[in-house]
Amino acid sequence: MTNTTVYPSHYINGQWVKATSSETLPVHDSSTEELMATVPSGTAAEAEAAVLAARKAFDSWSALPVETRAAYIDKVAAGVKARTEELAVAIAREVGMPLKMARAVQVGGPAWHWGNFAKIARNFEWEKKVGNSLVVREAIGVVGCITPWNFPLSQITLKIAPAMVAGCTVVLKPSEIAPVNAMILAEIIHEAGIPAGVFNLVNGSGPEVGEVLATHPEVDMVSFTGSTRAGKRVSELASQTVKRVALELGGKSASLILEDANLEAAVKGTIGACMLNSGQTCSAHTRMLVPASRYEEAKALAQATIAKFGIGPSLEETSKLGPLVSAAQRDRVLGFIKTGIDEGADVIAGGAEPPKMDKGYFVQPTILGIKPTDTLAQEEIFGPVLVVIPYKDEEEAVAIANSTIYGLGGAVWGGSDERAIQVARRMRTGQVDINGGPFNANAPFGGYKQSGNGRENGVYGFEEFLEFKSLQLKPVAV
Ligand code: NAD
Repeated sequence: MTNTTVYPSHYINGQWVKATSSETLPVHDSSTEELMATVPSGTAAEAEAAVLAARKAFDSWSALPVETRAAYIDKVAAGVKARTEELAVAIAREVGMPLKMARAVQVGGPAWHWGNFAKIARNFEWEKKVGNSLVVREAIGVVGCITPWNFPLSQITLKIAPAMVAGCTVVLKPSEIAPVNAMILAEIIHEAGIPAGVFNLVNGSGPEVGEVLATHPEVDMVSFTGSTRAGKRVSELASQTVKRVALELGGKSASLILEDANLEAAVKGTIGACMLNSGQTCSAHTRMLVPASRYEEAKALAQATIAKFGIGPSLEETSKLGPLVSAAQRDRVLGFIKTGIDEGADVIAGGAEPPKMDKGYFVQPTILGIKPTDTLAQEEIFGPVLVVIPYKDEEEAVAIANSTIYGLGGAVWGGSDERAIQVARRMRTGQVDINGGPFNANAPFGGYKQSGNGRENGVYGFEEFLEFKSLQLKPVAV
């Protein structure tokens, strides 16, 4: 596959509009390093045109009956399903997740969410009597959506689907590193016949296009998923126009294994939750906390488990772990592994030598035994790197779990669910998996502390895009 797809346009006001600048952003296949596509590098003026189109469309779109909007959203769900293979291959190539998993997680998930948000809007209690008031829920307005590259279609879907079905109009700036899936989605939305201006897409860099969305007075809300560093910048800028800001940021989640846990299940579960998408998952369980008395046993189990995680090109069916998204990400992760080793880590598996692959941004899956004060116990690495931290008692384990600036995901493994739940209640984090409890796409997902302040998924993610309005009624004389 050597063909490069050139996308020359942005999607503004219901049309593909040729980019004004000839500057483009390259998209690389992370397994082969080939240039697979280019998208235009948008300008501030293009971002503004998209914002104004969204503003113009808002009044009529938000006034439509919910059923009409939900029917459009269902059409998008059907379109995503129909183009599953094309989307899965694009994401497998641009992100690097093995194709089989990309089909299920990167496309199956979003297709389900589109349909689910249509259902949620249909069943939602849009108004309610409270004393002498009628409390009405309304769309917040124009929403600027800024998204990252690791689960690109999911992160886009979790913003624009609930926002649009709620009655908002949107301007999307997808990640410049994995934007191809967004271009396919824009085609699907166009084919679904969604009215002009309701959905707009401008590709480009964060500082050029993203910052227009964060600052523009006609944008009522900015919904941002990405790094804590960029999230802080977006918040700062958005404060000048008092927009609502929803932030879904980084993580350094702990998998806390209690001494009476089934250690084998806990170690396997933790490694699975760390290595998904080659560790490029915001809620990845990247710190495994084990009782010091069981450290050697945990180490042996970890070595046996990681040996089964074969790396390979994302389009090969046998690959369990693909490459990292880019050369820059690979180099960053290798830098972290070196720092860990320099600080005296116990190298349980892997290391900083690149695996023997002809091409692609591969890193060996790596497991390092470290102390809670080491750099790798604090920093989000965003690669296939698990750190194992021994602790002496439950108090210390909880303290270590809560000792980073983040609070996104986590797990507790214990002899009983009751005991694990007790410990989970003490963790300052948005989600905790109890003894391997699976992900629930209707449960709220989001962060404590510097992992953010928004919630996505299900009705919780839908309500983020609504305002409250209270209509005070004169009590009826009896
Ligand atoms: P990033 O912060 O570099 O980029 C995310 C998006 O923000 C991109 O579209 C980028 O162009 C844009 N951006 C960058 N600077 C900006 C600025 N000054 N103004 C406006 N927009 C700007 O993050 P990334 O590398 O794409 O993604 C990885 C990060 O995302 C990790 O930290 C990960 O934990 C986080 N993440 C969080 C969640 C969550 O739900 N909490 C989900 C996925 C990823």
